[in-house]
This record gives sequence, C-alpha cells and structure tokens, in this order.
Amino acid sequence: MGDSLALAKYAQKTDADVILFCGVHFMCETAKILNPEKIVLLPDLNAGCSLADSAPENEFRKWTTKYSDHTVISYINCSAEIKAMSDIICTSSNAEKIIKSLPLNEKIIFAPDKYLGSYLQKKINRPLRLWDGSCQVHVIFSEKELIKLSIRYPEAQLLAHPECDENILKHADHIGSTTSIINFAKDSEKTQFIIATEPGVIHQMKKQNPNKEFIPLPNNEGCACNECPYMRLNTLEKMYTALNTLQPEIVMSEELRIKALKPLQRMMELS
Ligand code: SF4
Repeated sequence: MGDSLALAKYAQKTDADVILFCGVHFMCETAKILNPEKIVLLPDLNAGCSLADSAPENEFRKWTTKYSDHTVISYINCSAEIKAMSDIICTSSNAEKIIKSLPLNEKIIFAPDKYLGSYLQKKINRPLRLWDGSCQVHVIFSEKELIKLSIRYPEAQLLAHPECDENILKHADHIGSTTSIINFAKDSEKTQFIIATEPGVIHQMKKQNPNKEFIPLPNNEGCACNECPYMRLNTLEKMYTALNTLQPEIVMSEELRIKALKPLQRMMELS
C-alpha cells in the first residue's frame, strides 16, 4: 500500500511482468508510463477520479495555450493527457520543494487541484495560476461537524490532506500527504485523531496504532461516508477475474507515454 508514485516505482522494482493495481485509472496510467514493458491491469476501468476528470484534455489545452509563458506543474492525480501537457508533475509530498526549485520570476500554472494549489500558494507565499479542479471526496468535509467533534474529543488532533478546503485546513494540527499523515499519527504522543482525507487510510493507521483512536471527519450531510466511490469499485471478484484474463489492461500510445514520461522524470530529478 502507498501513494500512486510509490506504487508506480514499486512496479519498476519488481520482477513481475503483470501489475494488478487496486487503485484508480490515473495511478495505473502512471505505472504504465514508467513500466511500458509490463502488463498493467485495473480490475474495473470505471475506477476513475473526480479530480482527474475535473481537467478535460481539450479545455486544459486551450487554457494552457493562453498562458504559454507559464511553467505547468500538475499534481500526479491527473490523466496521462494532462501529464503530457505539463512541464513537471508533483505529488502532495514534493510539490512545495518543486515549486521552490523554480526561479522566483517564473510564472507557474498549478493544476488540477485548486485547493492544493491555494494551500501551496499561501505556504510558499508565491502566486500560482490555479486550474479550477477538485476532488469530490475532499471538498465535502464539514467545518460544522469538525467543531462538534472537537468539543466531543478536545484532545484529538486534526490531520488533513491539502486537497481539503481552507475552512478545514485552518483548523488542522498537521497538513500533509497520505504518507505524512500516517507517519504523524504514528509519531504523535496523542491518542485521538480526526482524519480529514479518504477514510481508507484509517485501516492502515489502526493496524500500526492499535491503541489509538481515529475518527473520520463527517461530510456536510453529517455522515462519515466520504469514501472514494471510484476506489471502492475494485472488488476481490474483479481482481480475481483480472488476474485470470489479464484484462482490463491499461493501454496507451507510445507517443502519449513518452510525452507524459518527461514531466514525471523532471519531478524525479527535482525531488
Ligand atoms: S479520493 Fe478518489 S476522487 Fe479524490 S483524488 Fe483520490 S481517487 Fe480521485
């Protein structure tokens, strides 16, 4: 288990010819871009991503053409087509470092997540031109529910992913990538945490910290059901079928793969 880049890199290290991804489409594409010789399978091709979908190829091309004097930095949660139109890819862990590595006078487009972009903009104190995209899971956390939980669990720390809205991030004790949230909870002396990210991460946190309590932050409806509907499409049955039939396979043209590989390589050089 890991973030999409860690998984794609793991796929490079393993001797296996077939990689079965229990993730979403853009993660598999990243693995395929980095591992063209391997068969990459996604158990359900409908496992997309609302954030990646919020940057359609044609609109993004028109928009970036308008700002052709900008360097395009795209968060890894985007399609292969958007990667191919970008100069550098970043993750939530290395975005800050990558932006800081560019000269101060360099104009930067940040896509597709406007909340992550806005968070980085404030943190680094540097203007970014933001694409208007977001993740449906991270935008629906409720500040009102957070305040209720903070009263009920006064000692709990709020751990939030930077894809969340500012109204949640401003209360956070720690903001970071999935990996950094997991590590923070492990190292903290506190025993209660309110989690503002996709709640699938809580399973791993509970395994690592059986004596600590993890409370998923509810959404605006008041229920803690912010699970990513796309990730949940990958069932055990579909994984079994995919391994038996070697389908559905992620395929892309070599031309697209090469274009999408360049900004990924740039990320690895800079981070
Ligand atoms: S939680 Fe789901 S929709 Fe949101 S960025 Fe992750 S994969 Fe995409």
